[in-house]
Amino acid sequence: MCLCDDCGGACCRYVTINVGAMTPDQQRWATMRGDLEGLRWHIRSECEHLWKSGRCAIYSHRPEVCRDFDVGGEYCKDARARWKNERADHADK
Ligand code: SF4
Ligand code: SF4
Repeated sequence: MCLCDDCGGACCRYVTINVGAMTPDQQRWATMRGDLEGLRWHIRSECEHLWKSGRCAIYSHRPEVCRDFDVGGEYCKDARARWKNERADHADK
């Protein structure tokens, strides 16, 4: 069984930008816009090809950036934790 099977497509729901390459002024601007964790800026952005089931509708011809994503890696763990928290938040309301 793959880690993705019961994930719900967490990595398809967020974009993470490394602000380390930004100028100090741009970093300040990014901080004002929201969810910064160290040098990572997390933006909630759901892919239009993500099915409600958490599966990819264009899996066989998805972009390289999706193919290259490190399953089980640092960004995967981060996305799963965020998605889990988001679902828990909604369950509370
Ligand atoms: S966040 Fe990780 S486990 Fe979940 S779908 Fe993406 S690669 Fe798979
Ligand atoms: S194309 Fe598929 S794998 Fe890539 S972000 Fe969208 S739903 Fe996820």
